[in-house]
Amino acid sequence: MHYSAIKRKIVKRIDKLCCQPIEVFVFHAVSDSFDPALNKQVDWSSSTEFKQRILSFKQQYTFISLDEAYHCLHRDLTRQKKLAVLTCDDGFASILSILPFLEHEQVPITLFINPKYLDGTSIRTGYATAPKYITQNQLFALKSNLTSIGMHGYEHLDATKQTPEEFAESVDKCINILSSHPRYIPFFAYTWGNHNDTTDRILAEKNIVPVLCDGGATRRYYNGISRKPIDTQYLQSELVNSLIR
Ligand SMILES: [Zn+2]
Repeated sequence: MHYSAIKRKIVKRIDKLCCQPIEVFVFHAVSDSFDPALNKQVDWSSSTEFKQRILSFKQQYTFISLDEAYHCLHRDLTRQKKLAVLTCDDGFASILSILPFLEHEQVPITLFINPKYLDGTSIRTGYATAPKYITQNQLFALKSNLTSIGMHGYEHLDATKQTPEEFAESVDKCINILSSHPRYIPFFAYTWGNHNDTTDRILAEKNIVPVLCDGGATRRYYNGISRKPIDTQYLQSELVNSLIR
């Protein structure tokens, strides 16, 4: 075994003993009631449930921003505190209504945005009608220090099904549109968490941090930050799975 591989194995062992993992949660749409024209059950939580979930997480974890988590994952040799990060993908307009709650609870949030839908008219494939998205004006009006803005692809497409040129162009368009936002961070959440060596290389060349959706937590940064979905249906299926196992 190569020396660096042995070193990494030892570090991983030590991490397991001394370093609490940082949990990064992802959710999508949140609204008072489910609207089949605008929501997909798999991506949705009711406002009441969502708020209860966050309050319950707050009893277990200290919430920090994604940026802070990234630095902790590099810097902290040991970590006893249980840290968590909240992220939200897709930029549905419905989540604007829960931002005041998160602000009140002092929970930082990163919104991963597809800039194409900021025009308020473009429709993402797979939806019966256009889900309402955050518009460019609404996005640029978000100035709280607790909110940060990351990338989710120009359109909501599977990065692994794009050519390297198409994926690189999509990332460049995201940077062009989002990097002027005062709360922009160079983090890219892969749609459905799908990625490969080529997409990872393209992000690395542009100094962008990949954010995954692999159901895991991260103890130390290697080549991406793991996330767990917390939308209602996902949690229910996880609960069912854990009962079957
Ligand atoms: Zn998405």
